Amino acid sequence: MRVPVLAYHAVNIAGNDYASNDPLAFAADLRLIHELGLRIVPLQWVVEQVVGSGNRDLEGCVALTCDDGSNFDFNDLDHPIHGPQRSLYNCLLDFEAEFGVDAQPDLHLTCFVIASPEAREHIDRGCLAGRGWMSEAWWKDAQRSGLIGIENHSWDHNHPAVKLPGLEGMQRGSFLEVDSLPRARAEIAAATDYINERIAPSRTQIFCYPFSHVPEYLRAEYFPRFADEHGMLAAMGDGAVPVTLDSDRWNLPRYICGWHWKTPEALRDILAG
Ligand SMILES: [Zn+2]
Repeated sequence: MRVPVLAYHAVNIAGNDYASNDPLAFAADLRLIHELGLRIVPLQWVVEQVVGSGNRDLEGCVALTCDDGSNFDFNDLDHPIHGPQRSLYNCLLDFEAEFGVDAQPDLHLTCFVIASPEAREHIDRGCLAGRGWMSEAWWKDAQRSGLIGIENHSWDHNHPAVKLPGLEGMQRGSFLEVDSLPRARAEIAAATDYINERIAPSRTQIFCYPFSHVPEYLRAEYFPRFADEHGMLAAMGDGAVPVTLDSDRWNLPRYICGWHWKTPEALRDILAG
């Protein structure tokens, strides 16, 4: 198995072309992946393969993810500077309308969301336009659609835009601060509980490290030893290589749009291996 996992940030909208607009890049990439004869599959399948609970043929597959869980993931929105924007979810529906639902029968996007409503409000005001674009109102509908999985991007991202004291005395702005059991519980297990309540009967089982910061305590200690309380099967980082059966389940690699590739040609190279 050798599955590239791609990552997008739907709020990355600085213009209306491939290089400046993640939703536009996402829509184009769906077509490129399809044109290359690759199969889009749920990240959950890739994780199950790595941890040994799944045994599917994942030859020629790609998995899609997006981070931070803004409303741009699910709802079309009017950007104050760059105008109307298609949501990632509607990009999936557009693809199905154009090519038919059988073209990519396992089409799926995994959305990593931030649990804390208070943190999301601060991030909405501090980093977005302050229009309520970090809501959780869409989570359940997204999960029910079958095209989207809602997963865990921590309690508050330990984000610097959150103008509240850091959890358990943490300095804000780095996820490497999560280096002890109380801090891990506050950032991960609490997020699991909150998200699970909102998407029941589904459950979150995949974590994504905020800022791609992988604290050694989480990777080597908390995730492997406290599965009962955090409920995670795997955690996603940014290693920029495909996931294989030898990958570290607590730091599975992804390629980030706008960082590891900026053009369709560069993505084509990644997918061609
Ligand atoms: Zn993030």
